[in-house]
Amino acid sequence: MRPEILFPLFAPITSLKGVGPRVAPLLERLAGPIVRDVLFLKPHSLVVRTPADISAAVDGQVMTFDVTIDAYERPRSSAQPWRVRVSDPTGFLTLVFFGRFADQLEQRHPVGAKRIISGKVEDQKFGRQMVHPDYMVEPGKAGDIPELEPIYPATEGLPARRVRVFAQEALERAPELPEWQDPAWLAREKLPPWREAIARLHGPESEADLSPLSRHYRRLAYDELLAQQLAMAQRRAERRREPAVRIPASETAERIRGDLPFAFTGAQTRALAEIRADLAGGERMSRLIQGDVGSGKTVVAMCAMADVASAGGQTALMAPTEILARQHFETIQGPLTDHGVGVILLTGRDKGAGRAEKLRALASGAVQVAVGTHALFQDDVAFHRLQLAVIDEQHRFGVAERQRLQAKGQAVHLLAMSATPIPRTLELTVYGDLDVSRIDEKPPGRTPVATRAMPMTRIAEVEARLHEVVQAGAQAFWICPLVSESELVDLKAAETRAAELRERIGPSVGLIHGKMPAAAKDAVMAEFADGKLSVLVATTVVEVGVNVPNATIMVIEQAERFGLAQLHQLRGRVGRGSRESACVLLYDPPLSETAQKRLDILRRTDDGFLIAETDLELRGGGDALGLRQSGFPDYVFADPIAHRDLIAAAGDDARLIIGRDPQLTSPRGKALRVLEELFDWKAGMALKSAG
Ligand code: ADP
Ligand code: MG
Repeated sequence: MRPEILFPLFAPITSLKGVGPRVAPLLERLAGPIVRDVLFLKPHSLVVRTPADISAAVDGQVMTFDVTIDAYERPRSSAQPWRVRVSDPTGFLTLVFFGRFADQLEQRHPVGAKRIISGKVEDQKFGRQMVHPDYMVEPGKAGDIPELEPIYPATEGLPARRVRVFAQEALERAPELPEWQDPAWLAREKLPPWREAIARLHGPESEADLSPLSRHYRRLAYDELLAQQLAMAQRRAERRREPAVRIPASETAERIRGDLPFAFTGAQTRALAEIRADLAGGERMSRLIQGDVGSGKTVVAMCAMADVASAGGQTALMAPTEILARQHFETIQGPLTDHGVGVILLTGRDKGAGRAEKLRALASGAVQVAVGTHALFQDDVAFHRLQLAVIDEQHRFGVAERQRLQAKGQAVHLLAMSATPIPRTLELTVYGDLDVSRIDEKPPGRTPVATRAMPMTRIAEVEARLHEVVQAGAQAFWICPLVSESELVDLKAAETRAAELRERIGPSVGLIHGKMPAAAKDAVMAEFADGKLSVLVATTVVEVGVNVPNATIMVIEQAERFGLAQLHQLRGRVGRGSRESACVLLYDPPLSETAQKRLDILRRTDDGFLIAETDLELRGGGDALGLRQSGFPDYVFADPIAHRDLIAAAGDDARLIIGRDPQLTSPRGKALRVLEELFDWKAGMALKSAG
């Protein structure tokens, strides 16, 4: 139930004065459907309208002058503008007006009248001018000109100045809200009350007030972070309250582990121990294993599956693509079946009698592990006793999809796996409702991938070299990025590249892209994995997937367009065996200094977490898209760099609050409910939650 005090803010934007059927869709696109969304618009700059002398005018700046109207110059045709000469004791300039109302100008602003004008000064060939001043008022009405005017985002048909008026009105509707923050924390951080903070957002007193580092901005960011962390902490607590079957560590899992041709790394051992503690604890597990591609997440999960099977339960391992599902299946099938744990693969390709038989085996409990894609959570798939859901690259699934899978059992334990490195500082914002195990150690014996950045102008060299190594038996990936607006254009680029390489290297060059049907993709992948193809040209479909140990070369075109985390993941496709591997990052010169630094990090380190952290710093939080790709939420106020110190504080605060007052019934708890509602981060709908 929404607290009544918030009703004015959750009213539709059409309740704002002047927002009618024409304006509403425009404002909605800019802000959102409700008054709260307009209140949450942020001015991006500030115009100071203190009067100056005309002689001090600066081209391109918004300035304000006290002037006298000198003369009118009528247009000779209706296509031409009206020109009005105005002056002050230090100089003159020309006002320019287009449009049909211009001919009323002379009545409203007669020659000889005094006016205050404000607008953008432009120095033109024919002199200094101001086109359509923002303001033109009589001196007695100078109050009509805001001395400090925050500038809002605008859109076609809805100028910034109107948006400002709506924002001001939304502000008037904003009530004083009960304080939800800890007074001691507010005092220590010198943060203002919410109402004061939001008022200052819309009434900045200086440039400094626009900075995310200003106190009122930090207050709003902290509110937002706390609202989100609270929702996550609640989900986490809720899941934990649900009792789940206790699953002890098993002999079978230990035997499987003992039979592997390698020993676990320390990080793998630690991760497995953490998972086992969860499984045996009697509460539902919600854990994420984070680690680079090839760091050994799947084999750790496999041991947990064996534990579950030994306790009489079943596991579903869900992957976002068929290729990935197949590889997981291949990784775990041998070890598990060798020790009596039955495994099936279920994908969209299973049809008819074959599929029916697999479904029967799952429903009867004859098999204990099902590996698959979206096919796993279809309505007619039933489990005998589903106790563990392992979800690979979980951010590729929607909350609803994950929930549909988990709904196939009772209090199903959740184990997510992700190879997308997230900087530690941001972990809470993405995975705040999960416990995280990091596998930050690579299996031994992997040789680092020699990484080089080269300009596209040297592509012929790269191709020639590739020809040589391919003749010597090596295999290579060649990645063509998705960069243009149109997938078709990108596809064309990949096709052209494949054709060109075929000319140089021969017929053993294959092409794989996102638009191919799954079966065709698998066929090409299989040819590559079998060594029938020596070069695989790909759009980014290999990003999370395939394991081809013989592939030792990775060429990435337009590498500067990728996020570092993505480049790192792509590079992780090679260097799987003990042989020397290489990664060539081709870029369109010239590289900006930042781009150069970014590519340089990849040359220097192979640590995905370090790469993610440095990338974040270099981007300065500017690349919202890159962040969103790695699951960073779409905050209004919180900034991953400027407010990084607040993220951890909000996380701690939220867990503490929920620990003490799980139902939010104390006075502060009630205020916190208002906060959650204000930001829409309600427990049931946290966007990136584990489901
Ligand atoms: P991830 O799921 O993190 O991509 P996998 O569990 O699939 O990694 O492991 C990748 C490859 O490395 C597999 O072939 C696996 O058998 C192997 N592997 C896993 N752990 C180790 C280890 N500790 N030492 C050597 N090889 C390992
Ligand atoms: Mg894997």
